[in-house]
Amino acid sequence: MKFPNSKNKKMKFYNLKHKDEVVNFKEATIKGQGKDKGLFFPENIPQLSEDFVQNIEKYSDEEIAFQCLKDFVGDEIPEPELRKIVSETIAFDIPLKPISENIDVLELFHGPTLAFKDVGARFMSRCLSYFLKDETRKVTVLVATSGDTGGAVANGFYKVPNVEVVILYPKNRVSPVQEKQLTALGENIKALEVEGSFDDCQKLVKQAFSDEETNEKILLTSANSINVARWLPQQIYYLLAYKQWKQKHSEKPVICVPSGNFGNICAGILAYFRGIPAEHFIAACNANDVIPNFLQTEKYEPKEAVATLSNAMDVGDPSNFVRILELLHEDFDELKNLISSTSVSDKTTLQTIAEVYEKTGYILEPHGAVAYSVLDEFLQNNPDKKGLILETAHPVKFPKAVEKAIQIDVEIPEELISLMQQEKKSIVIQPEFDALKEMLLNQ
Ligand SMILES: *Cc1c(COP(=O)(O)O)cnc(C)c1O
Repeated sequence: MKFPNSKNKKMKFYNLKHKDEVVNFKEATIKGQGKDKGLFFPENIPQLSEDFVQNIEKYSDEEIAFQCLKDFVGDEIPEPELRKIVSETIAFDIPLKPISENIDVLELFHGPTLAFKDVGARFMSRCLSYFLKDETRKVTVLVATSGDTGGAVANGFYKVPNVEVVILYPKNRVSPVQEKQLTALGENIKALEVEGSFDDCQKLVKQAFSDEETNEKILLTSANSINVARWLPQQIYYLLAYKQWKQKHSEKPVICVPSGNFGNICAGILAYFRGIPAEHFIAACNANDVIPNFLQTEKYEPKEAVATLSNAMDVGDPSNFVRILELLHEDFDELKNLISSTSVSDKTTLQTIAEVYEKTGYILEPHGAVAYSVLDEFLQNNPDKKGLILETAHPVKFPKAVEKAIQIDVEIPEELISLMQQEKKSIVIQPEFDALKEMLLNQ
């Protein structure tokens, strides 16, 4: 089987806010974002060959992941090295399982931190490490987390040469599992326990990125989802979902994604425009309903985030949505045709966990439950269609909500038992930039 020869040996990425700022994959990975915090976007959308898509079940997952990403990386990472990186990126199962008659679930929680962010964090860390191998300076990855991101980043960058990781998290506001994932590793991972809120953590990170002296002395980069090296590998889910889907179903899937910052669903839409079949996309949101409102009114009105049970989606101004608009050439009608978005309350989330468990025995966690509820309703109105949800975390990461819904203690997976026994290593700091700056400059 043949693949189209990539014409763009060097894919370029432009800044969505300043289209004249153009960088290659390496620069985009190291910088994270462009001028005025603009997101980088690929200059063209490389097509997957029809032959490849039609025969996708004949390829190994590693080969699919490589084909998915090679055109974006071009020759900036040599093929053998890139193959190694993608294999390590997906070194765990990503199974598609049936839950009900018309809904399948793609389980994205079999990675080391039991949430889907592992794939992006693992790919980015390895690319960064490759790009830095000839650098004499160390790079410091600075990240603020409300829970899941920090664990995936810590795990992804653990013992990666030339990279120091500094994670800021709000004291007493992350779950016990999440805290251990941030603090138990040590080595090149430093966890700062901030006496404040997630917003305080984020503010400190922003101050660091704009502080001249800090940026002169150390090479600082961010590992949040707007980095292309975290965003692009998420396409792999949709290729692997299709590989499994097409062996069971003849119709195209309606794909429902629990969405917060909209990086994951945006990667799915990118995969669709490259040739992966889908009937329709649904962004399932919690009470943070900026995009559901936008699709109703065509008015984009960011809000303060409100706290919900599906807290990884508590985002009031989803940063990746501009990439979706760019993919659809800002055509509102086209956008509405391809994508729907619905908001779900915490009450419905808990009811859905209970109902699905009762009917099928499957245990959803809150993010997956938001998606299930929305897709179920969509399919009731479209009984000739079938669909899949992405389950983005393991129920054990959100035990309180699951226990509240179905009065069941979620069994702790084996990997986690030893983690929970390890010692917490963190440094408590006040929410003041001077404290962070001193840490950064004296590493
Ligand atoms: C980050 C996260 C999401 C939201 O993904 P986005 O790409 O930000 O839309 C959903 N579920 C879980 C468990 C997450 O950690």
